[in-house]
Amino acid sequence: MKPPPFDYHAPRSIGEVVALLRSLENSRLLAGGQSLMAMMNMRFAMPDHVIDLNRVEHLSSIRVTPTHLEIGAMTRQRDIEFSKEIEAKLPIITEAIRHVGHRQTRNRGTIGGSLCHLDPSAELVTLCSLLEASVTIVASAGSRTIPFSEFPIGYLTTSLRPDECLTAVSIPLWPSPHGFSFVEIARRHGDFAIASAGVMLELAPRGVVRRVAIALGGVDFAPVRLTALEARLLGAPLSEDAITTIGSSFDHLEPLDDIHATSKYRRRLALSLTQRAMRTAARRALASV
Ligand code: FAD
Repeated sequence: MKPPPFDYHAPRSIGEVVALLRSLENSRLLAGGQSLMAMMNMRFAMPDHVIDLNRVEHLSSIRVTPTHLEIGAMTRQRDIEFSKEIEAKLPIITEAIRHVGHRQTRNRGTIGGSLCHLDPSAELVTLCSLLEASVTIVASAGSRTIPFSEFPIGYLTTSLRPDECLTAVSIPLWPSPHGFSFVEIARRHGDFAIASAGVMLELAPRGVVRRVAIALGGVDFAPVRLTALEARLLGAPLSEDAITTIGSSFDHLEPLDDIHATSKYRRRLALSLTQRAMRTAARRALASV
């Protein structure tokens, strides 16, 4: 199908973008178009106005500070994939982004679009939860920065207001080196994951867990952080026994049922993916101490 008629706008500055967002009813921002255009063609989204971000300056950037990784909303997934700075500082991002669609979609798709589309299986969404990112949002009334945990509020629904534009993502760095792993199962490479698991791990001497983060994708409308399990693992070695006995931490999950997988299968898959990611993260952490 094709989208219903809409007016196209091509602003050159974020000031123009927020002025258009404030003055136009029923508008949508266009980033890489890899989700929006499909949503419009299927008439799941029927904006009267499309505001194209692709000519807006200063929205595409990758910057590393001593404490954070700062990524502009319009940064292409492919630029993130090939960033040596990101690979050096937070290699889990490099590992995960290769699961995002195909190289063709990553050439156009952006981190801002991924976060704002908010597919429950989107790798960048799960990573922002795992890494406790924050997002900066701009409107004509000013800007605000919120923890990513406050961004998802429902299925494919963010806490963005209609007149707001996401402009940047800020991700705190972990001590280098650290253990990490991002794993997923999808029907075919490039499909959205049926489920995914990301683990970040910092070990103290003698392999004791000093810091751990575990996030699941595809098991709810937003990523799920296993905070109770994280707390339980702290202060002890991440032994094989500690990994094989995490099953009860998944009992409360009620994943979505759909044509790709049952809820029960997704929950079981999330458990085994998490154990696989924990083993890999532990191996990488131990190899680096
Ligand atoms: P767009 O499609 O342009 O926009 C997406 C939504 O976000 C729209 O509602 C838009 O209005 C809004 N938006 C965009 N930018 C902003 C902003 N700065 N502020 C506010 N709102 C904004 N994704 C995955 O994560 N994993 C996959 O495995 C995967 N597989 C795919 C396979 C195929 C064949 C295709 C076509 C896509 C796939 N995708 C996958 C989706 C892809 O990664 C998209 O790039 C992503 O979901 C949206 O990014 P975009 O830049 O194209 O945004």
